[in-house]
Amino acid sequence: MKITPLTQNIFSTNALKALRELMGKQMPHQKRLDKIVALITEYLHVNVCSLYVLRPGDLLELFATKGLDEKAIHETFLRVGEGLIGEVALQRKTLIFENAWEHPSFVYKPETKEKAFKSLLGVPIIRGDNLLGVLAVQTTHTQAFSDEITETMQTIAMVLAEILATYQLEVKENLIKVESRSKVDGVRLIAGVAVGQAVLHRHSERITDILAKNTNVELKKLKTALEAVESDIRSLLDAPDIQADQQDMLTSYLLFIQDKGWISKITKVIETGLTAQAAVQKVGDETSERMGKIQDTYIKERIHDLKDVSNRLIRYLNGKNTTVQNIKLPKNTILVAHSMGPAELLDYDTEKIKAIVLEEGSQTMHVVIVARSLNIPVLGGIHNIFSLVNGDDELAVDATKGLLYINPSNEVLDEFDDKLQIQKRLTAHYQKLKKLPGVTEDGIPIALSVNAGLSTDLLMPEGTYFDGVGLYRTELPFMTSEQLPDVETQTDIYRRAILSLGGKPIVFRTLDIGSDKILPYFENTGEKNPAMGWRSIRITLDRRALLRGQLRAFIRAAEGKELRIMFPMIASINEFLEAKKTLQIELERERQKGGILPSAVKVGTMLEVPSLMFQLNELVKLVDFVSIGTNDLAQFLFATDRGNPMIWDRYDSLSPAMLKALKYINDICKEAGIPCSICGEMASKPLEAMALVGLGFTSLSMTPAALGAIKAVVRSMNQKEVADYLKTQLSSPSATLRDKLKSYATDHDIFI
Ligand code: PEP
Ligand code: MG
Repeated sequence: MKITPLTQNIFSTNALKALRELMGKQMPHQKRLDKIVALITEYLHVNVCSLYVLRPGDLLELFATKGLDEKAIHETFLRVGEGLIGEVALQRKTLIFENAWEHPSFVYKPETKEKAFKSLLGVPIIRGDNLLGVLAVQTTHTQAFSDEITETMQTIAMVLAEILATYQLEVKENLIKVESRSKVDGVRLIAGVAVGQAVLHRHSERITDILAKNTNVELKKLKTALEAVESDIRSLLDAPDIQADQQDMLTSYLLFIQDKGWISKITKVIETGLTAQAAVQKVGDETSERMGKIQDTYIKERIHDLKDVSNRLIRYLNGKNTTVQNIKLPKNTILVAHSMGPAELLDYDTEKIKAIVLEEGSQTMHVVIVARSLNIPVLGGIHNIFSLVNGDDELAVDATKGLLYINPSNEVLDEFDDKLQIQKRLTAHYQKLKKLPGVTEDGIPIALSVNAGLSTDLLMPEGTYFDGVGLYRTELPFMTSEQLPDVETQTDIYRRAILSLGGKPIVFRTLDIGSDKILPYFENTGEKNPAMGWRSIRITLDRRALLRGQLRAFIRAAEGKELRIMFPMIASINEFLEAKKTLQIELERERQKGGILPSAVKVGTMLEVPSLMFQLNELVKLVDFVSIGTNDLAQFLFATDRGNPMIWDRYDSLSPAMLKALKYINDICKEAGIPCSICGEMASKPLEAMALVGLGFTSLSMTPAALGAIKAVVRSMNQKEVADYLKTQLSSPSATLRDKLKSYATDHDIFI
């Protein structure tokens, strides 16, 4: 067949039209799938189209093909991760390979009689959070697939997802049953243990119609649904009995609903011929994929909020209420989900939820933050959760150790009885500490602050004592919107953060973008080594308007109160001075405009680039405070990429080298009378926190989840004794002092 070059538009319009006709006809599933792959080859002018369906055991089965040998249908299998198709499934994203046969991951399956095809475009078939298969096309010549073709394939993949979801229900009986009694490793998100009955939470709404009959009707439906969801959220916000935590969270949902970029994207997709529901889902999936590429876990986890908002909208478009039906939960419920939004958790009767088990999850995920405020343990990282756990299974969750027992034996249950007793005592202990400040046994006060990036991060269990926000990361609103948030939007966000703290200090960090945190509307420089590239303060000094706008928003948000600002990734004094000068220009501008100025402005720097250590004596004369970002500092000190799992645990932050560097910085700051705190992950870990206090640090800023544990460490340690012990160890040739510090803590009853 002669292949004509892929010009746009007409192909996809015709393909979708033909697909709509096909969907309207009654026929067996297999026949429908065969016809769909044939239709794709015909309308998209490709040589091969194949559909692979995910089967038990992470196998992708060739289910339909046009262009490969049809005898291979139901005979060819690839593992997830095997070959190019497996790669698409593994990464769960659309991939294009221009020279498929030369690709190192290419796998040849002789039974398919595959010819030497050149280009391959693979699209994952995803429904809700579940991968159902892969749809792929191939051509005999090198082909740059256009956006139009890619989008058409993605739309067809959505249709296939619905077909397969129904089909899978029919074949479910054939699925290989996972052994009913098992023990699975997970990741601790909120420590704690619980035993109870599994309740499966599947939050994705089923999309009933994908291809629109009338675009104008769909646009109207979208408008009505957006208004309805917004008004539902606003009426929840106005409810007299709403709690502060729910209020904060729902307000952040409004950010998504009012996002003009998001709405215009959905509108554009509707204009290509999709229904409003399908368009919301498509744009939601694309945004999730884009945000999912960002390595920063904090940003990544905001995806779940977006999914929650999209689901509410789809539910409305499907003609249902926007809140999840309140199902009757068993008394001891273990909620099992792939992932979930925080509002979805609050839709349940949370009193009955004893633990949450998630396939995904990190400590910065909103649902985890809300669960913490409700004292519910959370276990994350359980791969393939829905094939392991059935509704009504008995589960024993040890989120402290990161273990899940499915239908546990009596011995395991006995063990859990003991654990539950210990937990009761521990909870009572934390409860006692909650209202107390961080002071060491020998009376040294340690300021314990938290790191945050949305006011929802500050949802603490009622009455929890903490000293403020030591690091407010400002990247999120910049990363989640389609265009630069204007000064007013930013001011509003920062003002809310300040108000939610009720007068406690908050340190705003200017934009730390670049590296893996790429803004959608910002040029992508395609750097080879972005962690050391054009990022953070380097960008904001070069694009001064960005910095100025943000500083203006800080100044206005302070509304006459004290303002604390710090600059990230400062590598030389002149960068700090330039940034500070910009702040002064903004203060002067505000003064001339007659605005309210902050009562005081404290300007500090993060110390995360080693070069700054060698300018410290001069720097301390210029800054109001120093905050050490141990995540980046360790990365640059040891020359180890913090995002590379092959090496990230090769060097330990409890090594004499790192501890000596930290002590050096703290000693110089102390001598100059400049406050120096730690805001990297080290401050969130009990043993590390003990060492830091032993080194002389009196201010730690941590992930909010760690507050109880770190307070317990601080209050059970003697600063002077730990300091004396550490002094004897800092010259040790060992790669790490971890084991020694652990033994020390155990011997001295320090609560690690
Ligand atoms: C750090 O580098 O330690 C830090 C706190 O900043 P971030 O993790 O946001 O890079
Ligand atoms: Mg950093």
